[in-house]
Amino acid sequence: MTRPIVAGECIILLDTADDKEFFLTLREKGQINLHKGKILHSEIIGKCEGSLITSSKSHPFLVFRPTLYQLIMHMKRDTQIIYPKDLALILLYADIHPGCTVLEAGTGSGALTLALLRGVGPCGKVISYEIREEFVKRAKRNISLYYGNSPNLEIKLRDIYEGIDEKKMDRVILDIPEPWRLVNDVAGCLRLGGVFVSYLPTIIQVKSLVETLRADRRFVSIRVLESFIRDWNVDGLSVRPFHRMVAHTGFLTLATQGEAP
Ligand code: SAH
Repeated sequence: MTRPIVAGECIILLDTADDKEFFLTLREKGQINLHKGKILHSEIIGKCEGSLITSSKSHPFLVFRPTLYQLIMHMKRDTQIIYPKDLALILLYADIHPGCTVLEAGTGSGALTLALLRGVGPCGKVISYEIREEFVKRAKRNISLYYGNSPNLEIKLRDIYEGIDEKKMDRVILDIPEPWRLVNDVAGCLRLGGVFVSYLPTIIQVKSLVETLRADRRFVSIRVLESFIRDWNVDGLSVRPFHRMVAHTGFLTLATQGEAP
């Protein structure tokens, strides 16, 4: 479906010479000043995705709506975020599906929340706990940039270590420093057959979590994994991996809840 771009939308301007991306929100009277010339927002408003725009210095740019990946990489963040390579794994390994109910903490800048909202769809629900008000505001701004209103999202300004209200959730996903403190609460919050995922930056944290999950005896299929993505340079005879890559983000710990034997 091609729908003209309107004021208020965020867009990606792509420099066709080097694939450099510029992320901006369009205003009726706005303008963007780049090394390669100036572009009035009014020249973009009304165009469809993929249209060519020419700057005041006659340089060509293409205009696109951001993909979720692009939004997450360009949006403002006040916290570490979960990167797309890990978000992609969480969506499939935690089996996030339309209609699913997910309990999340902490909301942070909203990167995981954005991915979860897409996965659960309008019939699902995401409930997200965040202890710091400024991060709640940041996440809400990022989420509304992409989805506008999200009636299927509830953000609670709460310390999750003080307890979880929700019961019979399909999935619980934690990106907080000490998830082992919540293993009993997670078991009370998940339905039987529900999936728990934790994202942790260090393996020492993972060890504490896995040992607590095992001791609880209600969690099975406990699995720890990490992911690497290596981009490749394909240019003439230079067909090889890029020299640089993201070497470490975090570890995923997955577990499914069943009745204790
Ligand atoms: N997953 C997020 C990033 C989360 S960063 C994203 O992808 O954008 C970790 C967040 O957990 C921080 O915002 C921090 O304030 C929050 N947090 C830490 N301890 C918490 C607690 N006890 N209860 C709720 N939120 C907590």
